[in-house]
Amino acid sequence: MTTIDRRTVLAAGAAAMAGAATPSTPAAAQGAAKPVFDVAAVTIPIVGQSEVFPVRRIYCIGRNYAAHAIERGSDPNREPPFFFQKPTDAIQNVPTGQVADHPYPSLTKNYHHEVELVAALKSGGTNISPDKALDHVFGYALGLDMTRRDLQNEMAGMKKPWEIGKSFDHAAVLGPIHPVAKTGHFTKGAISLAVNGTVRQNSNLDKMIWSVAEQIAKLSEAFELKAGDIIYSGTPENVGPVVKGDVLLCKLEGLPDMSIKIV
Ligand code: MN
Repeated sequence: MTTIDRRTVLAAGAAAMAGAATPSTPAAAQGAAKPVFDVAAVTIPIVGQSEVFPVRRIYCIGRNYAAHAIERGSDPNREPPFFFQKPTDAIQNVPTGQVADHPYPSLTKNYHHEVELVAALKSGGTNISPDKALDHVFGYALGLDMTRRDLQNEMAGMKKPWEIGKSFDHAAVLGPIHPVAKTGHFTKGAISLAVNGTVRQNSNLDKMIWSVAEQIAKLSEAFELKAGDIIYSGTPENVGPVVKGDVLLCKLEGLPDMSIKIV
């Protein structure tokens, strides 16, 4: 009969632990260690100041205008807000006064525009109440939640994640951030998008089902929000396809226009 010498087991365990611990570095020191290679920081220009806004996460709200919810096949009266994320480095910054080239992405044959108000946070937290939520907003930008609609629909039809339809390179287009101190908060105002001079989307921020304050409150129930998070607040109805050569012009009352050309 084989008996296990408990001291041997303990000693072996201790040696293994010592072996694991010896070459490792304390967590505090790891923070100061030099990365093995550099990864570019993602930032957004801020109007009127030389500092830039560092981006932590990109959240997007789905179906936040009743008429858009209906065109996407859901009931705007019953569904709670839902959110998805885009990777931080999906951001394409579009300078004011320029028409930025935007590459038509791979895999899709039905590439859609979604013009949206974007809120940028300077602080965060969990379980933020709606009446305190706007205190966390640093500023606002005009954005496009570009979407590979055919891939999104295909995945949704199979009850699979939307990732490939929403979270690809250059999918988070936006203009510079305007600090709240200069613009105030956006609760109403015309928002529109034209393609080659023809208006396609045309609505008002007051038609959002969930306000920016409510979006922040709801998001903070699911995630700890932090400085650097940005929130795409949903698109009005009449989303539609673009092709190479199209010029998109986005307008939001109170902010400069933002424009891209699909190339
Ligand atoms: Mn959207």
